[in-house]
Amino acid sequence: MYDVAIIGGGPAGLSAGIYAARANLKTVIIERGLYGGQMQNTLDIENYPGFENIEGPELSERLYKQALQVGVEWKYGNVQSISLEGQTKVVKLEDGTVEARSVIIASGASPRPLGVPGEAEFTGRGVSYCATCDGALYRGAEVIVIGGGDSAIKEAILLTRFASKVTVIHRRDALRATGILQNRAFANEKITFMWDTVVDKIEGDGRVTGVLARNVKDGSTQVVEAKGVFIYVGVDPVTDFLTGSEILDEWGYILTDEFMATAVPGVYAAGDVRAASLRQIVSAAADGAEAAMKVYEYLETL
Ligand code: FAD
Ligand code: NAP
Repeated sequence: MYDVAIIGGGPAGLSAGIYAARANLKTVIIERGLYGGQMQNTLDIENYPGFENIEGPELSERLYKQALQVGVEWKYGNVQSISLEGQTKVVKLEDGTVEARSVIIASGASPRPLGVPGEAEFTGRGVSYCATCDGALYRGAEVIVIGGGDSAIKEAILLTRFASKVTVIHRRDALRATGILQNRAFANEKITFMWDTVVDKIEGDGRVTGVLARNVKDGSTQVVEAKGVFIYVGVDPVTDFLTGSEILDEWGYILTDEFMATAVPGVYAAGDVRAASLRQIVSAAADGAEAAMKVYEYLETL
């Protein structure tokens, strides 16, 4: 029986683990992938305080090692469901169960598909959701990035290290990305923008050859040729293992109060999976710390 079971080993879960273990709580982090979560899929993190620039995999490894050092137990497992009610929380994995007196859900978010023809067919054959993982495959090639948020613009800039040309296709005429990223992208000669444009179809012949783009203002269409299409149109919360639960909002995010507590006693949430989260590494880490401290207070009352 653990004091706290943490679902997910991204920055929220790892930070929760560090704070919980340092409070002498018997702590397990259950993770189905690699430590670090979404941080593993990005280089050039420039806004985590204390580091002017650090690569995602390095920050992930530092947090992971720190968690193990202070006594967090790391368990590989894919959470299927959790029974939240009652004083003992039972986390069901594919191959067994974990019991704990409290739970912190830090299962984060995953890339949202664009939902157009060709996307599923060519995923892994030109369509990608991770420039850091796949960018080097496109040395000297022309690529397309779809989206206008921080992810799209940050990863478009990264792609200019490899690609000969990066075309950013955005559905509006202004970017959502933070100012510093916008300035860098506008100054980068390899990046061109197609404004007020959506992609209706990803085309290919075994591999991606381009996209069918449509201007939303005048309705005109054109084929834009490219070998790679990187999709960054937002993220969805990972809460499939809580389907139907009262702690989810209509979009599947977990509802908490400002102290990370859900409506169910002993159940907390932290990071990107939480409704109203800032969805940054620094806020995920802060959420995790807060959740762990509230778990400590909760367990004292039992
Ligand atoms: P996640 O990082 O999503 O981690 C959740 C973890 O839970 C994952 O490891 C997942 O495998 C695990 N999990 C999920 N479901 C289960 C299950 N059923 N069983 C077991 N484990 C499960 N933020 C910044 O501050 N600066 C940046 O420069 C930056 N760059 C980014 C670049 C890109 C391309 C992307 C996509 C995001 C970027 N972000 C950046 C956002 C940042 O990565 C996230 O806000 C942050 O990782 C959220 O942390 P988290 O711990 O809440 O969730
Ligand atoms: P996001 O901020 O939600 O941006 C999604 C982008 O995709 C928006 O520009 C949106 O357009 C566009 N879009 C959404 N649906 C679309 C569709 N169906 N067709 C075409 N375009 C569509 O998502 P994100 O960029 O992945 O970022 C997620 C979170 O991670 C954010 O909180 C972000 O700040 C954080 N993050 C931070 C950093 C960093 O700090 N450097 C880097 C990456 C991510 P509209 O603008 O018109 O809505």
